[in-house]
Amino acid sequence: MADRGKDFAKDFRGEVVVVTGASTGLGRAIAEEVAGRGARAVVINYASSVAEAEETGDLVRALGAEPLLVKADVGVDADCRRIAEAAAPFGRIDALFNNAGITKHAPDHADLDALTDEDFIRLYRVNVIGAYQMVRAARSLLEAGSRPGAVVNTSSVAGVMGIGSSVAYAASKGALTTMTLSLARALAPKIRVNAVCPGFIDTPWFGKAMDAEALERMRQGVAARMPLGVASKAEDVAGPAVFLASPASGHITGETLLIDAGLHLNYAPLGMR
Ligand code: NAP
Repeated sequence: MADRGKDFAKDFRGEVVVVTGASTGLGRAIAEEVAGRGARAVVINYASSVAEAEETGDLVRALGAEPLLVKADVGVDADCRRIAEAAAPFGRIDALFNNAGITKHAPDHADLDALTDEDFIRLYRVNVIGAYQMVRAARSLLEAGSRPGAVVNTSSVAGVMGIGSSVAYAASKGALTTMTLSLARALAPKIRVNAVCPGFIDTPWFGKAMDAEALERMRQGVAARMPLGVASKAEDVAGPAVFLASPASGHITGETLLIDAGLHLNYAPLGMR
């Protein structure tokens, strides 16, 4: 019979975690979640939002973990190596969350002139190549722990359904989901690789593209359209994402977990008839 005496609440006790794109939103919520669950150190990567990253650091410290801030562009290989190196003094990385992401808002997918080749390349560089480079940079440290290192890629239902802010964004997240399968197969048994596909998350992501009034309308519209009748917040998604890096998911690799309040059900082919 399984051991039921485990301390689930502190299942990251003593662990070293790297989170890319952790200045705000889902990345910050993941950093807080692992710190609350006992992590010893959390590498907090961000691109440019210093004040927000420092705030994440303060939250992580208040929860008992050591924050290590690294300003770096995951689209640049040397920067990915610097992010991984921040964990080197600990001798291992137990979990890597490839969460940094960008988009280009071109919501009319029929307007093929709304995206340039540079848009595609810019999004792929961060959303796909960034995750690849991070895994490569962190590989030896991910393999150095007492149990398999865990990689969790933040993909999106956009990549599963072909929906979302632009065709280029959906395509990049589809590529990230496929890459999750390739790397899970290639890096087993020493490293597990899984992906989460959020639907809508109420984060600063949308504030970058719309004003407060439009954002509030969107929140209400989203909640009304979701089968579960909710607009997810970052902490609603962080828990399931962190599950995929926890000991409880030790027998899961190559999995894609949709965390979307049922959004994908609205697009089920049978439901569309
Ligand atoms: P967010 O609050 O805007 O966070 C984005 C994070 O990515 C920020 O920390 C940002 O850093 C960082 N970042 C951007 N470009 C980077 C780069 N080149 N190198 C390193 N870091 C970079 O948005 P979020 O909603 O939490 O997004 C997190 C992830 O969730 C993304 O991968 C996104 O695609 C995915 N997602 C979001 C939603 C949603 O509805 N919000 C839905 C599905 C999936 P700076 O602040 O320094 O720029």
